[in-house]
Amino acid sequence: MSETIFNKIINREIPADIVYEDDLSLAFRDINPQAPVHLLIIPKRAIATINDLEAGDRELVGHLYLVAAKLAKEMGFDDAGYRTVMNCGESAGQTVFHIHLHLLAGKPLGWPPYTDRMKQA
Ligand code: 5GP
Repeated sequence: MSETIFNKIINREIPADIVYEDDLSLAFRDINPQAPVHLLIIPKRAIATINDLEAGDRELVGHLYLVAAKLAKEMGFDDAGYRTVMNCGESAGQTVFHIHLHLLAGKPLGWPPYTDRMKQA
């Protein structure tokens, strides 16, 4: 798999506002936030898309959600609520092919999350 910008963030080759790190994962603020809090939680091991997940990745994917819940609690928006999203592929808007869990919080989040671009499609 070709290297993405997220590998460069993991390796500290480019800067990012990192809020959490452990052996398996890294969380940092999205460069183009769509909510007052917009974090990306990524595995350190690069997996391109959800389609590339294997049975052995169960714990890793579960871990990303546990990190999301931990950060929500530590940052104080666990009770107010938040959204997690993992886009898969071009139609879903995936632009970086290293799986990542978006964590959005800090404002009321509409549902369904249609954008004008999607309504026209
Ligand atoms: P996707 O569209 O693939 O689901 O989400 C990719 C996200 O990565 C986008 O929200 C985009 O703003 C974010 N992103 C892309 N490049 C960078 C970067 O260099 N640094 C950070 N912090 N976020 C990035």
